[in-house]
Amino acid sequence: MERKEVLIKNIKIGNGQRIAIQSMTNTISTDYISTITQVNKLKDMGCDIVRISLPSMEAAINISKIIKNTDLPIVADVHFDYKIALQAIKSGVHKLRINPSNFPPEYLLEVVHAAKSENIPIRVGVNRGSIHDLISNEQLAEYALKNVLLLEKMGFDNIVVSAKTSNVRDSIIVNKYLFNHSPYPIHIGLTEAGFGKFAEIKSIYSLSVLLNEGIGDTLRISLTGDPDREVKLAKYLLRAAGKLGGFFEVVACPTCARTQIDVERISEFLETKYENLKKDIKVSIMGCLVNGIGEGLNSDIGICGGKDKSVLYIKGKRVRIVENHEIEELLVKIIDNFDQY
Ligand code: SF4
Repeated sequence: MERKEVLIKNIKIGNGQRIAIQSMTNTISTDYISTITQVNKLKDMGCDIVRISLPSMEAAINISKIIKNTDLPIVADVHFDYKIALQAIKSGVHKLRINPSNFPPEYLLEVVHAAKSENIPIRVGVNRGSIHDLISNEQLAEYALKNVLLLEKMGFDNIVVSAKTSNVRDSIIVNKYLFNHSPYPIHIGLTEAGFGKFAEIKSIYSLSVLLNEGIGDTLRISLTGDPDREVKLAKYLLRAAGKLGGFFEVVACPTCARTQIDVERISEFLETKYENLKKDIKVSIMGCLVNGIGEGLNSDIGICGGKDKSVLYIKGKRVRIVENHEIEELLVKIIDNFDQY
């Protein structure tokens, strides 16, 4: 099946494009100062696309101020009221997400025409929580595809699709079904994952399985609370999956009785200092030569811990001996000037 590509402002998704990280603001949408601040913070953290919920006409009017104050593509999340969708398009949003379970079908054509004239995509975003019947996974995916077909019949094919559940296994089954039956980009994410570590693990588990099978063109790790965490975890996930360029990474050993340097302190220092560095640099901090030599050779920068003195590797070569108390200072100098190496 030839897969389709969709443009959201300047971000292409689908058909093998880089997987875009999405998140969603949780400020009051009409408080555009707070919302702009949150959107731009998410951008600085590595978010590619931000969705904003528009529960009122006032929010749909105000969203133009948010759009003017950020480079990020903005997606309007609209439920129930087609007039809000029309106003959001008029205000300049870069994509519209509608939920077929609560969107009035008799006004869909009008909204589709408006989206088409502004050349913005629509995400058909189905969510099991919005459906008031017990349905199977296949029925949930088919429900999304039925609504995709409805848009196609209206002459519209600038489409993204999603069908979300809060259950890991269901989410995997539903998204596989979508992938096998539809050419449109798929937005993946475990919905209503919840709060805390278990929510994070559930999300990452389900998304990992899908990403490993090449499924998913945009993703959101939906977590209760501050959306910063969503973006941070999405970046970690894509990096671990080998699908994110421009990412600073520290590889560190777990430490044991052989450890010669303060692996934990050095790793934490680097992770904190370079958290938002958008460069592909892998630094290994290893406690001794057992695994330190091999990791050092296979990293951009490596430290293999030794008694009082350690070995520094750069780009696969043993470069010099370094006093252990100088390690952090030296690494900062190298990382800050890495283009010269
Ligand atoms: S690299 Fe050395 S210090 Fe680190 S866990 Fe392995 S054996 Fe222990």
